[in-house]
Amino acid sequence: MSEKYGVVFVLGGPGAGKGTQCVRIEKEFGFLHLSAGDLLREERQKKDSKIGNEIEMHIRNGTIVPVEITCSLLHRAMKESSNQNFLIDGFPRNKDNLDGWNREMSALTEIKRVLFFNCSDSVCIQRCLNRGKTSGRSDDNEESLKKRINTYRESTLPVIEHYCNLELVSEIQADKTQEDVWAEVKGIFEKICS
Ligand code: UDP
Ligand code: MG
Repeated sequence: MSEKYGVVFVLGGPGAGKGTQCVRIEKEFGFLHLSAGDLLREERQKKDSKIGNEIEMHIRNGTIVPVEITCSLLHRAMKESSNQNFLIDGFPRNKDNLDGWNREMSALTEIKRVLFFNCSDSVCIQRCLNRGKTSGRSDDNEESLKKRINTYRESTLPVIEHYCNLELVSEIQADKTQEDVWAEVKGIFEKICS
């Protein structure tokens, strides 16, 4: 392969609207949406998966799955697609994720941008509890949410800070309506693609 994959990381708290906006970005700009959480949930469901229990434990506790697992799922999905550009949603979430990505993937990829969906805790919690009524997700409940928000604060914010220092971050005010957030996201992507 001659050209590097283009990557936009999408970060923010649980319920900040990453997945919702990624669907719209994919449609409008053609970046393939890969949700790390969805890939982990898919892997967990596989009958012969030896790591299913380990993944479920982390998801329920709001802790982070070891990078070897997540990174290899992401890399596989990238190779299996015919796309050149990817939106990686919900990763890297901590220093282990960041170091593992840099080790395994930095030679193959160019990080074009990091979108940071900044949203207040109260809005995040309300959205996830609403989603929990229909999502069937084992972590959209109050107890898991407290842990997820803690992990986000302690482990993910420093990753965002790291990319801030590299001047790669675009921050989005995410506690607005879907349409208002989209207007902001679209403007940022138009620049990325120009
Ligand atoms: N997760 C992980 N590593 C990742 C992405 C997700 O360990 O790179 C786990 C983690 O336990 C997290 C859960 O999957 O709390 C759900 O992540 P998801 O991104 O789906 O949640 P969201 O932030 O979209 O609500
Ligand atoms: Mg999500």
